[in-house]
Amino acid sequence: MLVRNNATVGWGFEYGVFDYPVELVRSTRRKSVSIQVADGLIQLRVPQSISKREIEQLLERKRRWIEGKVALQSALPRLQPKQYLKGEQFLYLGKEYPLQLTSDFPYRVTLQGDQLLLGVKPSTSLEQQPQWIKKQLTAWYREQALQRLQERTAHFARVVGVKPASVVVRTYRARWGSCSSRGDIRYNWKLIMGPAEVIDYVVVHELCHLLEHNHSPAYWRRVEQFMPDYREQREWLKRSGRILSL
Ligand SMILES: [Zn+2]
Repeated sequence: MLVRNNATVGWGFEYGVFDYPVELVRSTRRKSVSIQVADGLIQLRVPQSISKREIEQLLERKRRWIEGKVALQSALPRLQPKQYLKGEQFLYLGKEYPLQLTSDFPYRVTLQGDQLLLGVKPSTSLEQQPQWIKKQLTAWYREQALQRLQERTAHFARVVGVKPASVVVRTYRARWGSCSSRGDIRYNWKLIMGPAEVIDYVVVHELCHLLEHNHSPAYWRRVEQFMPDYREQREWLKRSGRILSL
């Protein structure tokens, strides 16, 4: 078992509770504990002051929930890793598009009709190609994500009646968005691969945190008020969110 503590200098002790890595992130700003399970990794975000004993008790208390999550995730078929080749399918707004390579300018991704088109620089060797394609796709996705998420956030901000301080996209491994108490909203750019309704749900989710900075029943009532079918989108993310990967 491995305990990584990447927020402050920490104790590398072992939790005798699970056969899975536990990543411990301590933060002086955090007041409550959150647990996430992704890719067989248990991530625990805790306040700076919490003791080793308290963490052990917490893990013990949450044992069934955590083991259920891990079991569910390991029962899922493995995602085929992307190869970044001609003809391979890539998701955009919930739809798959085959990647077409040309040797024509521009040397960047464009969406044309039913395909993603990418001009490959003649100087790119065959070995370098997959890495280069990945880089171009990432840049394109990030650009599309930022544009759409800024638009949708501006739209829903008026509906919800809030004013976010900033909207950016980030690379996250196991979350779709976040909203700071100062009103800075960050989204996972990989959301742009998902269906439009799912993207809107994450937008409404983060904006509602400007009204309620927690996940209380009052908070979820707000979300429901602005998006009556939000449960469907939330379920989609839980069940299928992992396909939004590059
Ligand atoms: Zn939230």
